[in-house]
Amino acid sequence: MATKRAQAKHSVNKLELPPLVAERISCALSKWTGEMGRCHWCNEIITGKRRRTWCSDACGRAWQREHIWRFARSAAKRRAKYRCTKPGCTAERRDCEVNHILPLNGIGYGPGCQHHSKPNSKGEGGLEVLCHAHHAEITAAQATARAVARRAVQESAVTTKQ
Ligand SMILES: [Zn+2]
Ligand SMILES: [Zn+2]
Ligand SMILES: [Zn+2]
Repeated sequence: MATKRAQAKHSVNKLELPPLVAERISCALSKWTGEMGRCHWCNEIITGKRRRTWCSDACGRAWQREHIWRFARSAAKRRAKYRCTKPGCTAERRDCEVNHILPLNGIGYGPGCQHHSKPNSKGEGGLEVLCHAHHAEITAAQATARAVARRAVQESAVTTKQ
């Protein structure tokens, strides 16, 4: 019994939260302040007996749309009405893919704030819907930028060694 109580106390410690849960406290879109028993999206007190994380299905879905790639991707396409958002693009409807405006660069497609639909207050991040051709163009440009950055790092490493 004593161990059980110790465990319960443990789980209240913010620092012990799983990273994905802790992220909701810092997430710019979630209103959750980290208090147990409150919705991890709107911060309202959870009243449903069988609910622990979200006060309603709507809040759970709202979080998913901004943090789980497959939900974020389909929501972005739906918002763009399945059309490339590049001005004047003549690609067909449904020829659309979703691009992370800020390249993921190894952060990956796992759940997280990197899938927010809109840029943050500093204008960074967000998703954009592009046709295959425009997406390929941007992906190629991003790869070139990465290669240039890598070369710069390598060169500065060489200089520091000398
Ligand atoms: Zn809620
Ligand atoms: Zn977030
Ligand atoms: Zn296009």
